Formats: sequence, structure tokens, C-alpha cells
Amino acid sequence: MQKVAVIGAGTMGNGIAHTFAQSGIKVNLIDISQEALDKALATISKNLGRMVAKEKISEEDKNNTIANISTHTDMIAGVEGVGLVVEAATENLDLKLKIFKSMDEATSDDVILATNTSSISITQIAAVTGRPDKVIGMHFMNPVPIMKLVEIIRGYSTSDEVTNTIMELSKKLGKTPTEVNDYPGFVANRILMPMINEAIITLHEGVAGVEEIDTVMKLGMAHPMGPLQLADFIGLDVCLSILNVMYEGFGNPKYAPCPLLVNMVAASKMGIKSGEGFYSWGHGTKDLIVSNQFR
Ligand code: NAD
Repeated sequence: MQKVAVIGAGTMGNGIAHTFAQSGIKVNLIDISQEALDKALATISKNLGRMVAKEKISEEDKNNTIANISTHTDMIAGVEGVGLVVEAATENLDLKLKIFKSMDEATSDDVILATNTSSISITQIAAVTGRPDKVIGMHFMNPVPIMKLVEIIRGYSTSDEVTNTIMELSKKLGKTPTEVNDYPGFVANRILMPMINEAIITLHEGVAGVEEIDTVMKLGMAHPMGPLQLADFIGLDVCLSILNVMYEGFGNPKYAPCPLLVNMVAASKMGIKSGEGFYSWGHGTKDLIVSNQFR
């Protein structure tokens, strides 16, 4: 795999582009927003700079990685000549179906089309293409350059050959790929999101405050960060979308999103990316929000 396209340059897209580029693979990073592309390049440069400061990579490695990335606002031009497309655009079914239809038309038949979706059916996405055997879930974890896991999701029609290619490629990126089947939330979010939702319900019912809930889970369960802080990292809109996919997909009320989460997303409190969620994120640092909403 010499060249890949990454569609979407947000929280995940910049990390995915960074990871491929650092492994010596050329990346066309595509977004409809030039501002998102500029921000992604600045984030990648900052993250690589941190690795140089820690002497994990050299200044030359940093420059070579950045040189491997080119940015595009035109998706058709951006997917030209690539062997793989990894879609990491906003978590929305209609948007992903539209992107996959266009990618299917814009790329040759042998190109593998992967999605980083957190929860949307790979089989449903594959069905809008003429190559369902070459559509697969490549679910990276946040932050992508650091987290080892890639959840590899086989759709109903994904071939063994394509699965093996993506498993091997993930290993070349220094990751540990783990194969799972295509059901709502797959494995990672099926287990993680009910915990985050329950933490929000616990807050909403006034059982404890933000810091108390996160402290119990950090110190009591040895989690590196509490579930409310993690929700801010993931993005509250992303959490809400995933819960809705599982709620509708299984028809089980245990996945119903907490009304507080619904309200916060409606009020554009998305977590780190909007500057405020359960915590306030001025200058990248965390401050507890003392709000009556949470007491
Ligand atoms: P984000 O909101 O940070 O970024 C999404 C980007 O997609 C934005 O920059 C937006 O401009 C761009 N976009 C929207 N429509 C587009 C189009 N038609 N063409 C190109 N770009 C377009 O979202 P994110 O958190 O990076 O999530 C991206 C995907 O990764 C989602 O499917 C999400 O479920 C998944 N994911 C997220 C996390 C996480 O922790 N945030 C973890 C794993 C997987």
C-alpha cells in the first residue's frame, strides 16, 4: 500500500493521516472544510513536535511524515491513484452512504473502501457500493497515534482476502488489529457507551458530581480517565450518535441516551472540540464546570 486517502480531517482523521504518514505511506487528507484541514496539519505538526521533544523520533522523521501528507477539499481528486480509502467523516448514516456511493464511482474496482465509523453498519454502507466484498470497518481508537487497537469489522460480505490485507496493514502501522463481526456498536462501543451513558445518568440523577464520578472510576477501577472526561475526549455528539445507533439497532431501551446528553449536544456542548462539555477546555487544559445542571 503506497498511497491512501483519508476522508474527514477532524479528531480521528488527523490521527489516522498522522499514523499512515509516519509509516512511510503517502496520504491524501480530504475534508470539505479548508479550516479543518489547516487545523489537522497544525495538530499533526504539534503532536510530532512533542515526540521530537521526547526524543521518540528525530526532526527528520517529523519532516518526512509531514511531507507524506497532502490536503484536498475535492474528494474526487483526492482519491485518485490510492489503494485504500479510510473514511473518517462525521458519524451520520446518510452522509456516509453518500460518501461511499461517490467513492465507489470515483475509484477503480480493486480499491478497498474502509470506514472508521464507531457504530454504523458496515453491511449497510457496503450495500450502496458495487464492491461489498471490499468494504470493511477499520475502527481506530482516539488518540490514534498512541492507541494500539484497531477494531477490524467484517461486514456480511467482506472477503477473507480484504480482511487479511487490512489486518496486515494495521500491523505495519504498529497497531494490534482485532477482528469482530458487524453488529451495532461492534465490541468496543457496545461495552464502552453504556458505561459512559450510565455515568451521565448518575450525574443527571444527582447521585454524584462530575469529579466524584470520574474519581470513583479512575481510582476505584484503575481506568486512566473517568467516563465523563472520556466522553469529552470522544465528543458528546459522537457518543449520542453511537447510543442512538445501538438503541435503534437492538430496539432495547437499555441503550436510550440520557436526556442530559441529548440536551448538551443540542446546546453545542460537544466536549474538547467545542471547548466545553462536562469540563471546560480552555487552552487544552481541563477545568471543572461548576454548573447547577450537574448538581
Ligand atoms: P469530527 O467531528 O471531529 O470530524 C469530522 C470531520 O468530517 C469534520 O472535519 C468535517 O468537516 C468532515 N466532513 C463532514 N462531511 C464531510 C464530507 N462530505 N467529506 C469530507 N469531510 C467531511 O469527528 P470525529 O470524532 O473525527 O469522527 C469521525 C469518525 O470517526 C466518525 O465516524 C466517528 O464515529 C469515528 N470515531 C470517532 C472517535 C472519537 O473518539 N471521536 C473514535 C473512533 C471512531
